[in-house]
Amino acid sequence: MRLYNYMEDVVIKAVDLAIEKCPQVCKCEKCRLDIAAIALNNLPSRYVVTEKGEVFAKADGMQLQFDVDVLREVTKAIEIVSKRPKHDDVW
Ligand SMILES: [Zn+2]
Repeated sequence: MRLYNYMEDVVIKAVDLAIEKCPQVCKCEKCRLDIAAIALNNLPSRYVVTEKGEVFAKADGMQLQFDVDVLREVTKAIEIVSKRPKHDDVW
């Protein structure tokens, strides 16, 4: 059993769909995850207790009610990252 924030999956799926429609946006791993991180920081967490395997069914079933908020935050995050990509930052 573990805690799982299924909003992560919802947002990552939404980022992948959204950037496919935005040819100007960098699609490297760093930029995709930056976009997801910014969007997730502006969205509520949705923690569930889960056992391995059941989580994806739950995430799919609950995805629709967040679509409008998720898309709005993902779109804003894409604008932020595409203006100032951080993929050259070295940590
Ligand atoms: Zn990039």
